[in-house]
Amino acid sequence: MLKVENISFGYQRNTFLKDLSFHVNAGEHISIIGESGSGKSTLLKLLYGEYDLNSGSIFWKNTQILGPSHNLVIDYPFIKYVAQEFDLMPYISVAENIGKFLSNFYPEEKQNRVNALIEVVELTEFANTKVQYLSGGQKQRVAIARAIALQPEILILDEPFSHIDNFKKHSLRRSLFSYLKNNNIACIVATHDKNDVLPFADNMLVLHDGSLMAQGTPEQLYKNPQSPLIASFFGEYNIIEPYGIVYAHNITVTNNSQLKATVLKSFYNGNYYLIEALLNNNTIFFKSLNQYKAGDIVSIAIKEQRL
Ligand code: ADP
Ligand code: MG
Repeated sequence: MLKVENISFGYQRNTFLKDLSFHVNAGEHISIIGESGSGKSTLLKLLYGEYDLNSGSIFWKNTQILGPSHNLVIDYPFIKYVAQEFDLMPYISVAENIGKFLSNFYPEEKQNRVNALIEVVELTEFANTKVQYLSGGQKQRVAIARAIALQPEILILDEPFSHIDNFKKHSLRRSLFSYLKNNNIACIVATHDKNDVLPFADNMLVLHDGSLMAQGTPEQLYKNPQSPLIASFFGEYNIIEPYGIVYAHNITVTNNSQLKATVLKSFYNGNYYLIEALLNNNTIFFKSLNQYKAGDIVSIAIKEQRL
């Protein structure tokens, strides 16, 4: 288990990350979310010992993870990290990059392992392509495959799909995250995208300005998003008194209700329209299968969002 206990850290004299504590079990999938600058990348770097903590401790099982003042080279074999920027060898192939740290003692086994990893990141057709000819998203996938090559116990991923287009993203996520689950590899993933979190994460940490604002399962935080920041991660929302935070999909058009909204605009979203409307002089957003025109008056019902 990874035990993070009361850690604090600052780049200069000021403390930036303040007193964070959480645990990660073997094989568990943890998502770290938060706005840009909230401290996600900093926290990930602390987890594998890139910086010295100001206070607190990090343990994986019985090994304490210590910063550079205690270690000449950061290299804990049980932990691998894929940064937002990845350093690959440009002049050798995808397969050679992925196999770089695998032993050459059993060449056939190595080849099979590399092929399996290439499949996980869906790059089979590029196996023999030199990395310098790949796109940013393809390089990111090579870096991920190289990081899991030696079967770490924890994999740390900083926005792993940020360079990868929507055409590939959905299947790649399923492939990678199922591989990690099936191999009992814990993963800690910083992300902006709820689609990386809702179907996959066992737990979520919400960072805000260097503090841990909330933690819980995706379902707990989705159903009871405690703050507008958390709700905004999951989708369009409103603040409507006396209900509090109301997701756009929890407002429905009904035949008859006391609540009348005046439509301002309909936005096409594929399988629904997002309707912008005025309710008691406040702008609200709701989802609807029908399109409405500016000026239409609709009766709405608000469903309370509770666990
Ligand atoms: P996130 O990954 O959530 O966008 P970061 O952890 O990268 O956030 O950054 C958190 C804060 O720390 C930001 O204010 C950023 O400017 C600052 N920061 C990040 N890296 C460094 C660094 N190497 N030196 C000084 N400040 C840094
Ligand atoms: Mg970052």
